[in-house]
Amino acid sequence: MKRIAGLAPKNYYFYEKYLNMDLSYWELKNWFTDVDYTIVGSGIVGLHAALRLRERFPQSKILVLEKGMLPQGASTKNAGFACFGSLSEIIDDLKSHAVEEVVNLVHKRWKGLQLLRNRLGDDSIDFKPYGGYELFLKDDESSYEDCLRKLPFINEILRPLFKADVFAKEVGRFGFNGIQEYLVFNPFEAQIDTGNMMQALLKQAVAENILILNQQTVTSYLDKGNSVEVALGDFSYTSKKILFATNGFANELTNGAVKPARAQVLITEPIKNLDIRGTFHLDRGYYYFRNIGDRILLGGGRNLDFETENTTAFGQTEIVQKKLEELLKEVILPNQDFQIAHRWSGIMGIGNSKNPIVSQLSDSVYCGVRLGGMGVAIGSLIGTELADLV
Ligand SMILES: Cc1cc2nc3c(=O)[nH]c(=O)nc-3n(C[C@H](O)[C@H](O)[C@H](O)COP(=O)(O)OP(=O)(O)OC[C@H]3O[C@@H](n4cnc5c(N)ncnc54)[C@H](O)[C@@H]3O)c2cc1C
Repeated sequence: MKRIAGLAPKNYYFYEKYLNMDLSYWELKNWFTDVDYTIVGSGIVGLHAALRLRERFPQSKILVLEKGMLPQGASTKNAGFACFGSLSEIIDDLKSHAVEEVVNLVHKRWKGLQLLRNRLGDDSIDFKPYGGYELFLKDDESSYEDCLRKLPFINEILRPLFKADVFAKEVGRFGFNGIQEYLVFNPFEAQIDTGNMMQALLKQAVAENILILNQQTVTSYLDKGNSVEVALGDFSYTSKKILFATNGFANELTNGAVKPARAQVLITEPIKNLDIRGTFHLDRGYYYFRNIGDRILLGGGRNLDFETENTTAFGQTEIVQKKLEELLKEVILPNQDFQIAHRWSGIMGIGNSKNPIVSQLSDSVYCGVRLGGMGVAIGSLIGTELADLV
């Protein structure tokens, strides 16, 4: 690992060492010298952490390093649900988490959503409070019955937070096929435009004098106590602190408790007279769809093949895509012609707990990772908590 020496003019000769990067005196001086905070990852968490650091330390040099051309893990790939958990998902979480833990998580997601809206403004993220719905397939009778039975209890534990019932039974009216009679409606759920949200965050970061470099992969780091040596391949520089916001990629450099989880998505071409509006969940959050204008975005199916989807590689598989197409044709749009316009995938970070990890790893190294499937909601808060660790 090469080391950048001081940048005083007398050290000019050191630059010869870095010819492979071909960095100029100016580039080294302005981007890589006297760096106070390096943030790895320019997703929702990384950018919120950077903005929070700027609030706390107005004069500091903050450098965000992102390995993708775009912030491309999950933050620009997601479905844009502004949600905090469907009824069946919350009930499922109660099998492995205490009631207080689940309520606390919902609270954090809700607070995170308010922070996101306050920071960026509803117009800029195209916030649409259409509400969210959960539907249950005909052959999912036992989960349906279980959810309807536990609905009053879940409302009760969430009432202190929302001061109202969160979930209500509602007769289906969207023309879905092969589902149980009632949907479960959540008036507090909304949808956003993910692309607009990420662009607004990036714009705000640039306006706050936060330096962002794309296509830079942090390959290793060395904590020296009061500073960290950060390596980008065989080039390195010194930063006072480093904050990892690498989510699904966290176990590559920092946190073995995070497993990558790929999520596959498709979107249709515009559909004539589409009468579906809102965000929709199925099967404990394993499937989700929404309208985007007059298109349908549908994602999920990771549970069909957990092992293959436990990967940091982007891509699609036949088993998942077939299931998504089947759901579209048979359940969501049974009486409509549609064409699939596009498919993609993103990488989430999950683990054996739904709680994100926000921690100090050593003297000058911190991480905010394992966002799970609701990082749009909780990401802003985790970014803030990460920055507040420093
Ligand atoms: C298909 C899909 C749909 C989803 N839908 C929703 C939804 O509707 N609502 C919701 O709330 N959540 C949703 N999520 C989850 C949500 O998108 C994530 O929880 C959230 O984006 C996580 O943000 P993050 O900043 O922690 O991680 P990321 O956005 O993954 O950012 C981490 C960044 O770190 C970069 N990176 C990693 N390693 C390095 C390195 N060594 N050097 C430099 N850079 C590095 C990556 O390139 C990446 O850009 C969805 C996720 C996916 C994949």
